[in-house]
Amino acid sequence: MMGSIEGLERFDSPGKGRGLRVTRPFKVGELLFSSPAYSFVLSLSERGCYCEFCFTRKEGLARCGKCKKAFYCGVKCQKGDWAMHKLECSAMTAFGENWCPSETSRLVARILAKKKMQKERCASERILLIEEIQSHVEDVDNEKREMTESDIAGLHRFFSKHLELPDHKDLLTLFSQVACNGFTIEDDELSHMGTAVYPDVALINHSCLPSVIVTYKGTSAEVRAVKNMNPGDEVLISYIDLLYPTDDRNNRLREFYYFTCQCQECKTKSSDKAKLKVRKQSDPIEQEVISNMVRYARKTIREFRLKLDAALDSVAPPSELLEMCEQSLDEMGAVFDDTNVYMLHMMYQAMGVCLYMQDPDGAIRYGEKIIKPYSKLYPPYSLNVSSMYLKLGRLYMGLERYSVGVGALKKAMAIMEVAHGRDHFYLTELRKEMTRK
Ligand SMILES: [Zn+2]
Ligand SMILES: [Zn+2]
Ligand SMILES: [Zn+2]
Repeated sequence: MMGSIEGLERFDSPGKGRGLRVTRPFKVGELLFSSPAYSFVLSLSERGCYCEFCFTRKEGLARCGKCKKAFYCGVKCQKGDWAMHKLECSAMTAFGENWCPSETSRLVARILAKKKMQKERCASERILLIEEIQSHVEDVDNEKREMTESDIAGLHRFFSKHLELPDHKDLLTLFSQVACNGFTIEDDELSHMGTAVYPDVALINHSCLPSVIVTYKGTSAEVRAVKNMNPGDEVLISYIDLLYPTDDRNNRLREFYYFTCQCQECKTKSSDKAKLKVRKQSDPIEQEVISNMVRYARKTIREFRLKLDAALDSVAPPSELLEMCEQSLDEMGAVFDDTNVYMLHMMYQAMGVCLYMQDPDGAIRYGEKIIKPYSKLYPPYSLNVSSMYLKLGRLYMGLERYSVGVGALKKAMAIMEVAHGRDHFYLTELRKEMTRK
């Protein structure tokens, strides 16, 4: 398939296995290719906001008459989705409140259904593709193994009525493939909308200095250049959040993707100093104090994630989350500069809590501290930066601070024109938002 996309070819990337490279020049903002999802699923929390089939966001979607839980633009989308929705429709009614498969289990059920449909339709090229995707079953640690086992149990519990499930070993492989190659579909503010598999995009290797960026149009992925590329250049995306220093990035890559990055930035660590910036004081702070604070920061980030899960399950109130952010910012602020990425991480979390608690002033206060260092520390045309400008811009507009609002939205737009393409409906909507007073 890749051979059929003009300007691109597969090749053996030294030290990385299969990869993708360009055979003609591409300019910043140019579309390399667009890839329909092999399989996709809308998050349960987004039901009613988006059409389950085409991921269009609008008011007044029509409900599935049977389960009353899935929403569609209209009959056409409902019909289009039925082959997948039928896996859940009657089961949701039967299980009622107890219907609770993970998003991964839901996606895997769809992949299995799709494979079966394709086998019936005779062996197509696409079946090979999903078989071909890398899996790392042998590398999985106990904690992840447990997660997968519970996902597999969920698959049996909620989907076995409609699906013939393969044996345990094949399921382990499939879940491992999805873990390494599944893509989170995010909206313009980077909110999670769903999960999908794109075999073509999964061919692209990682770099902390990526040459392309992936955005979504409906359920399709679009890959655009964020650097000018010459024939022979490898197509490289980032698999991870690039805010963090080299050690943190590689810990994450090893944990989730089982490799260590060898890119120029990982070799030179040229941005690490700025990312770990320490407060200026008359007596320089000792290295040991800094190391201890880094350890504290990493621990706090992990603990916050657990607390956030508890809050999402309504076990902990959001005010406790905000307290935790403020406390850690106080603690770290004695050693770290305000532009240190661990400070930014906690400010970002605090902003999220403020947004959740409908405190726009609080959210703006954190957002304003974050945005400048973000623009410096992230690579050019980063969605993390554009989404932050969007959030800020929309908050200002909501408080009728129009001129500063339009300014922020314009900054978001400059990045999105490259990352999403000028014609993306996000930009059409944004242009409208900017004239609204
Ligand atoms: Zn639709
Ligand atoms: Zn239904
Ligand atoms: Zn790297």
